[in-house]
Amino acid sequence: MTARTDPVLLLVGAGHAHLGVIDDWRKNGPPRAHRVLVEPLDAMRYSGMVPGWIAGEYRASELAIPLGPLVEETGLQWHRARLDRIDPDRRIAHLDNGEAVSFDLCSIATGGAGQARAILGNDERLLDIRPLDGFIEGWQRLRDSEPRHGRIAIVGGGAGGTELAFGFRNSAHWRDCEVVLVTGESGLLPDHSPAVRGRVAAELDRQGIAVVRNDARVEGGALVAGQRSLEPLDLIAAAVGSGAPDWPEASGLPIDDQGFVRVDEYQRVCGFEHILAAGDVARRTDRKVPHSGVHAVYSGPVLAKNLRRMLAGKAPRRSYSPRFMDFYLLNTCRGESIASYGRLGLQSAWLRRVKDWLDTRWIRRFTARGGR
Ligand SMILES: Cc1cc2nc3c(=O)[nH]c(=O)nc-3n(C[C@H](O)[C@H](O)[C@H](O)COP(=O)(O)OP(=O)(O)OC[C@H]3O[C@@H](n4cnc5c(N)ncnc54)[C@H](O)[C@@H]3O)c2cc1C
Repeated sequence: MTARTDPVLLLVGAGHAHLGVIDDWRKNGPPRAHRVLVEPLDAMRYSGMVPGWIAGEYRASELAIPLGPLVEETGLQWHRARLDRIDPDRRIAHLDNGEAVSFDLCSIATGGAGQARAILGNDERLLDIRPLDGFIEGWQRLRDSEPRHGRIAIVGGGAGGTELAFGFRNSAHWRDCEVVLVTGESGLLPDHSPAVRGRVAAELDRQGIAVVRNDARVEGGALVAGQRSLEPLDLIAAAVGSGAPDWPEASGLPIDDQGFVRVDEYQRVCGFEHILAAGDVARRTDRKVPHSGVHAVYSGPVLAKNLRRMLAGKAPRRSYSPRFMDFYLLNTCRGESIASYGRLGLQSAWLRRVKDWLDTRWIRRFTARGGR
């Protein structure tokens, strides 16, 4: 129960960091505040399991964290809408359904925006991985149709694009489709070690996935990489990294040169200490924190502690710092995972079991009643 005089805490977006905040409230009790959530979707979907879902290893329901039970359990007032713009000085959030929500303290975890059309150009066969729910719906609509040519192009040579290539190659619906991975000029997994790149390249080869190391673009209705057309294609799936949404700039929030919200070591928006932002929408100004689900997840408990202190009128004390080296487990969608940790690159079936255990444990944390 909240009193009229309690401060209003507004959470915008059910991104990974906010799930961490909600998890903290389930374990330790919610802070004394009127708690409000703005999120248009009824469930959060876990990107790390999407390639496995495409390959038929999971059902769609297994990647979903329904928000209804979490909202009910933690006494959140839920607006099923999108944030349109924020007035940081007057402390008002304007939603796309015309509502306006006043707040004392606001935290934003709305993730990144799709940028495939801006980078590649428009094409009706283009399916951008962002927003993830749009990608999932798009593939669900398509997958029951017969592919005409039996060819799919994946654009993006990072971990997301590589895993999507494995997912589509082993699709339970479009069986034996030819898959071509277009990495761009920066090549395959540029942020990973040569050992990982070597293992992934060998696995792509083993699975018959062609790799094109040129930038792709849509030209005259065809997907072109370098000077070469990749047609005919049934589908162009793009994982070209997340871009920034438009609303931070339109709201007058400080942004970096790509449009992400600039935040300090406590995730406070620079110059607006009553607004915090975490996950892919934010850009730390004190240190490098790459945009990834892992960092969004691990910043959640820290954010929860800082929000509690700030609601009690105290200064935030904790700062999220990434581990020394990032740890990734890539799903080959053929019963193995490739681990990437610093210079190390390992591949095995037991790593796939570890990935499955980690992923499903994370989902269960939010779907089990009471968070246990
Ligand atoms: C195929 C694939 C696999 C990946 N695998 C991994 C992996 O294994 N490990 C890893 O670390 N990273 C992985 N990533 C990256 C990871 O998905 C992102 O970094 C992560 O999802 C970002 O999380 P977030 O919490 O910032 O936002 P999101 O997870 O995008 O959540 C944002 C939420 O905010 C809501 N929202 C958006 N706009 C608004 C608005 N205006 N108003 C209100 N709500 C809004 C959305 O509906 C959504 O619920 C993968 C990405 C892809 C594409």
